[in-house]
Amino acid sequence: MKQLVILSGKGGTGKTSVAAAFAHLLSLKNTPFKAVIADADVDAANLELVLSPSVISREEFWGGSMAEIDPDNCTACGICAEVCRFDAVLVKEDLYTVDPIACDGCAACVYQCPTETIKMIEQIAGEWYQSDSLYGPLFHANLIPAQENSGKLVTLVKQQARLLALDEEYDLVLVDGPPGIGCPVISAASGADLALIVAEPTASGVHDMHRVLKTTAHFDVESLVCINKADIYPEGTEAIEEFCQNEGIRVVGKIPFDLAVTESMVQGKPVTAYKADSPASLAILELWKEVVEVIQDSEE
Ligand code: SF4
Ligand code: SF4
Repeated sequence: MKQLVILSGKGGTGKTSVAAAFAHLLSLKNTPFKAVIADADVDAANLELVLSPSVISREEFWGGSMAEIDPDNCTACGICAEVCRFDAVLVKEDLYTVDPIACDGCAACVYQCPTETIKMIEQIAGEWYQSDSLYGPLFHANLIPAQENSGKLVTLVKQQARLLALDEEYDLVLVDGPPGIGCPVISAASGADLALIVAEPTASGVHDMHRVLKTTAHFDVESLVCINKADIYPEGTEAIEEFCQNEGIRVVGKIPFDLAVTESMVQGKPVTAYKADSPASLAILELWKEVVEVIQDSEE
C-alpha cells in the first residue's frame, strides 16, 4: 500500500483541485489503484466540498489543555498572572480567570500556584470523520478556529485512512496535505512514499516550492512537481523548470489556466468529472498517468 501526498508551498495554488481530480480518476473503472482519500488540510478542509461525502462516523478530537482557576481556593496572590507569558490570566476585582483564547496550555501557572488551585483541562479541538464519498472512502476533519495541534489531527486523519486501507486491502492512500511548511505539513509528509508538489508560476513560485521540497527531502520522500496555471506567467514557469532541472526533480505536468476549474468548484465537482475534455482536465489526466507510472515503478 502506497501513500501519495499532494502539497504546495503556499495556499491557493490549486492543490485541492488536483487532489479532487485524482480522487475522481481513482474512482473510474480502469483505475490502477483502489484508494482511500485523506483530507489532511485540517485548518481549511475543502476537499469535502467537491467529493460530496456522507459522514458515516464522527469522533471528537481532543487537542491541547487550558488552565482553569477554582475561584474558591484562589487567594488572589497574583503569581499566576506574573508567570503567564501569554497574558492569559485576567484579573477583575481580585477575581482571577483564564482567557481561553490566549491560554497556550503551557501549565507554568499550575506549577507556580501556591494553593494548587489551577488545573489543566483538556479541550475539544475539533472533530474527525469517516465518510463515504462519490469517489471512495474519505477521512477528513475540522479543527475549531484558533485551536492548536493541527499536526496531531493530520496524523490522526492519515492513520485512520491507512488503517482502513490496510484492513480492506486498498493499494493507495491519497492525501491532500496542508499548504506551507509548518508542523501539519511535516505530519502530512512523514511516511509518504511520494509527494506531488503543486507550484504556481508567481514571483515567489520557486521560493515557495523550494521550501516544501526541503521538507520532503528531510523526510526522504521522493518528490515530483507540477505547475498549475503554467501559461499565465511563462517566465515563472521557466524559473520553476530550471530550478527543478538543476535539483534533479521531475516536472511531471503543466496545467493551463482554465475557467472550467473555477466552474467545477462552484458546481462542487472535481474538474475531471465536471468537464473531462477541458484543457485543465486533459492536462491533469496526463499528469496522473505520469504519477501512476512513478508509483508503479516504485512497486517493482
Ligand atoms: S497563583 Fe493561584 S492563588 Fe495565586 S492568584 Fe493565581 S490561582 Fe490564585
Ligand atoms: S497555562 Fe500557561 S498560558 Fe495558560 S494561563 Fe497558565 S501560564 Fe498562562
